[in-house]
Amino acid sequence: MVSKKISKIPVSKTMELDAKAKELIRKGEDVINLTAGEPDFPTPEPIIDAAKKLLEKGHIKYTDPRGIFELRRAIAEKIGKKYGKEITPDQVIVTNGAKQALFNTFMTLLDPGDEVIVFSPVWVSYIPQIVLSGGAAKVVETSLKSGFHPSIEELEKLVDSRVKAVLINSPNNPTGVIYREDFLKRLLELAKEKNFYVVSDEVYDSLVYTDEFSSILNVGKDFERIVYINGFSKSHAMTGWRVGYLISNAEVASAVAKIQSHTTSCINTVAQYAALEALNVDNSHMVRTFKERRDFVVDRLKKIGVNFVEPSGAFYLFFETPGDDLRFCERLLEEKRVALVPGSSFLRPGFVRLSFATSTEKLSEALDRIEDFLNSR
Ligand code: PMP
Ligand code: GLU
Repeated sequence: MVSKKISKIPVSKTMELDAKAKELIRKGEDVINLTAGEPDFPTPEPIIDAAKKLLEKGHIKYTDPRGIFELRRAIAEKIGKKYGKEITPDQVIVTNGAKQALFNTFMTLLDPGDEVIVFSPVWVSYIPQIVLSGGAAKVVETSLKSGFHPSIEELEKLVDSRVKAVLINSPNNPTGVIYREDFLKRLLELAKEKNFYVVSDEVYDSLVYTDEFSSILNVGKDFERIVYINGFSKSHAMTGWRVGYLISNAEVASAVAKIQSHTTSCINTVAQYAALEALNVDNSHMVRTFKERRDFVVDRLKKIGVNFVEPSGAFYLFFETPGDDLRFCERLLEEKRVALVPGSSFLRPGFVRLSFATSTEKLSEALDRIEDFLNSR
């Protein structure tokens, strides 16, 4: 018998549906996979070369569980410079993707009975990670009507002594919405007043198609109440390398370091040197391409006539379905060979998520099929 805590969580739907679509494609089926958010670009050449260099040297050993010093220093310098902050390498912990940075954060912050406020639609892994860490999630809904923007007033009403953290994700998965700076400012003021942490997942921070992105680090003076999460998967097409990181105060960072020392020992050494190189690699060609794809998908879906909020960042579009979203996804895959993620996986039935991290050619074909499907109903 497995433990009660593991029985309480589902498998990651994004990972499951992506694997299912990939399996159908492997078997020769003409499936267009718009499930997982995974850039279709190869990892840029200089990053591969940095990894090759290390492989040729062959000196691949355990590193500091917190990550190699050079990478932590480079991250501290880059983020420090970007947001005008003094960040020391000791505040940075390199993790096995941003996913592990999040998991370590919850393991560090939560005791049984503690709560984390999340906003729905909510990315598939947040609540399971909170539950596995012994906490509970309190869900605050955002709506299509309010552009999927969270309301500080609603949040204020829900914060009590059990709330240990509020988790935000901007640019957002699955809506593509970018949170406003005045919301971030008031959130951080509330965090200081009520003693909770703001865990800010900014893995899509460089995939922005408007000029309005604000980080929690734009409004915060220090890391007293902030855990900042980022990674290389999305920004540098490095999903399979598994490198992410968190930045926080010394207390949180050293607690996370303890977890790392007992769990992963360290992150894959070759991948850490590759990530170090990635910090010097410009990704603007990818951002330009994602923007073109976003414009294309937005335009087509407007013509098709479904309801959605235009994504300002990330590479997802979350649109309303006629009828049940689970059935919609099942039938769309069966009848038209297009794979999407049902909104129910993000606690928002009646919607589906389309990832536009794939070629315009494929997107165009997928949208033709979606249009046919909707017209045939
Ligand atoms: N946060 C969000 C919102 C995501 O969509 C993802 C998906 N990859 C992650 C974190 C984790 O990314 P990774 O572990 O690949 O860095
Ligand atoms: N984060 C991506 C997504 O939401 C990749 C899959 C995952 O990590 O869950 O599709």
